[in-house]
Amino acid sequence: MDFVIRPEQRVSARHYDTVVAGGGTGGVFAAIAAARCGAKVALIEQKGYVGGIAAEGGCGLHSFFNLGRAFGVDKRMVVRGIPEEFIQRLHAVKGCSGHNETILRYEYDDDALCVDVEAYKFVALEMLREAGVHVMLNTFVADALRSGDLVNGVITESHQGCEAVMGKVFIDATGYGDLCARAGASYTEPNDYSVVNSMGVGGIDIDKYFAFLRDNGALNEYARGPRDGRDDQLIRVDGNYAKISPELAEAANLIGMSSTTTTLHDNYLMFIKINHKMASSPTDRDALANAEHELRRRQRVAIELLRKTIPGAENAFIARTAPTITIRRARCVECEYDITNEEVVNGTHFEDDVLSYGFHDNAPRMQIKNGGTYGLPYRSIIVKNKANLLAIGMMITSDHDAHMSTRNTVSCMAMGQAAGTAAGLCAKAELGGVRDLPYRELYDGLKQGNVWFDAEVYK
Ligand SMILES: Cc1cc2nc3c(=O)[nH]c(=O)nc-3n(C[C@H](O)[C@H](O)[C@H](O)COP(=O)(O)OP(=O)(O)OC[C@H]3O[C@@H](n4cnc5c(N)ncnc54)[C@H](O)[C@@H]3O)c2cc1C
Repeated sequence: MDFVIRPEQRVSARHYDTVVAGGGTGGVFAAIAAARCGAKVALIEQKGYVGGIAAEGGCGLHSFFNLGRAFGVDKRMVVRGIPEEFIQRLHAVKGCSGHNETILRYEYDDDALCVDVEAYKFVALEMLREAGVHVMLNTFVADALRSGDLVNGVITESHQGCEAVMGKVFIDATGYGDLCARAGASYTEPNDYSVVNSMGVGGIDIDKYFAFLRDNGALNEYARGPRDGRDDQLIRVDGNYAKISPELAEAANLIGMSSTTTTLHDNYLMFIKINHKMASSPTDRDALANAEHELRRRQRVAIELLRKTIPGAENAFIARTAPTITIRRARCVECEYDITNEEVVNGTHFEDDVLSYGFHDNAPRMQIKNGGTYGLPYRSIIVKNKANLLAIGMMITSDHDAHMSTRNTVSCMAMGQAAGTAAGLCAKAELGGVRDLPYRELYDGLKQGNVWFDAEVYK
């Protein structure tokens, strides 16, 4: 490969207390939390909207609750704070189903919560602006400025050109771990999941689709809730194509098509996921472009398959696709503490818990003991060997099974509130590093933000 030397460049610099890289699932809540602590906050997002994969790729938001019914214990809301406040705001504009019961497979998730992705993007942006966050959309974090173990700023690129965004505490919420990598943090690239493009399918009769699955004994789970202004409608359906026909199952398998989907509108399935396993990590630009192409090819095959085989889907068409591939992880960033699956399933809580969580994506094979929760310690979002850098979302937790829990949307949101609160409190107390923040202050700040501590380990 040929090389060139990039000339030194004088760029304009803006100054903030807290800089959040990535305005996705976790980053939105980090920025709001920091701003509510009084910090001057910049949120830098490469796309033209905020919300990340929660507004692009998933199905339901897993999960605000513990597995109450499955274990015959109290069903309680274990994630509250700003994430639940957001859900209430979304519900008020009919942008989500609210919390509903899962029918049949409640030992997986006891909360069927479906979102309208466009409302999600809008309400999240409104809340950020109300909190006074400077939301920089269409802006890419391209590099980090650092000295010793400190991150001093990030270099951004936008249509306006190159800028430096300087700060005191930085939060990497890019999913990919772009900021941590540029800042010289240690990381691995496990490439242990498929990448996905998730499409919205229009022109489909939901009730016929559901009846077909039910009549073939192929229903895994479903949920009922509000749809297009009417209560008690289907809002979530998961089928087992193998029970319909081996041919359908094999055809769906060939294109990595998942049958789990949600809806808040008549004649519309919000998410049909098409998966593809890449040979290399999704940070590989050209391999990623090939995967984008392959997934769009597979989506076309999927829509034909639906039209041909599912009654009610004869007129189905692709109404929406994710603007870019969605990933379950790319880089895994090394933090001070790395929670294990043993700690997750045993419901371990720590003296420096910043959140409680009760969902495991491998359930019912792996569930949190006795339908309880585990805690995520503050240490597990502090980037190793960096004084003022926190990492949240899918990029933490190296243990694949533990990651099957920590990476889910509601956990990422709660991590966001934790990191933003820590960063905001550091700014207020003029602390040089995130380790200088006494846990007592963080705990009090989280309590003030209505965070639920399911086990009061800290006294
Ligand atoms: C297909 C799929 C289905 C899933 N289904 C579910 C589900 O049903 N329920 C569930 O709870 N979880 C689900 N998950 C898991 C969950 O959605 C993710 O783990 C979680 O949303 C990740 O949140 P995050 O904040 O880490 O990343 P993201 O939500 O991806 O946010 C990262 C943000 O950073 C931005 N960004 C990235 N790089 C840069 C840069 N250099 N500069 C500026 N901005 C940048 C991105 O544009 C994005 O907005 C699913 C995941 C996938 C991929």
